[in-house]
Amino acid sequence: MPTFASAITCIDGRVLPPLIDFARARYGVDAVDVVTEPGVDATVPDLIEDLTRRLAPSIDKHGSHDVVLAGHEDCAGNPVDEATHRRHLATSARALSSALGDAVDVLAVYVRLDGTVEVVDPPTA
Ligand SMILES: [Zn+2]
Repeated sequence: MPTFASAITCIDGRVLPPLIDFARARYGVDAVDVVTEPGVDATVPDLIEDLTRRLAPSIDKHGSHDVVLAGHEDCAGNPVDEATHRRHLATSARALSSALGDAVDVLAVYVRLDGTVEVVDPPTA
């Protein structure tokens, strides 16, 4: 039985390969299920019902218990500076974590165009 983690990220195709590599290595899983939405790091609180519905098969059927929420450099969907991305990510990760409950861990990351993936301060609640 393959093991899975999950990711919520922008549609930007430059971000996906490093993000999947990061999640597979961090969680030691075979595959990463991905939900995409433009500039999603800024909009999680507004889309929470839609996002949790789209994540449900990954969590309920694939047994994922780790969700990586990504923001990234040079984002067309959320064109703000890095400090603002990091604020958006912290707020969004908190909202997501609260919506998904204790069985799932949420990790916010910021992806640079050189492929670097940096963990953003974890949510406090
Ligand atoms: Zn983007």
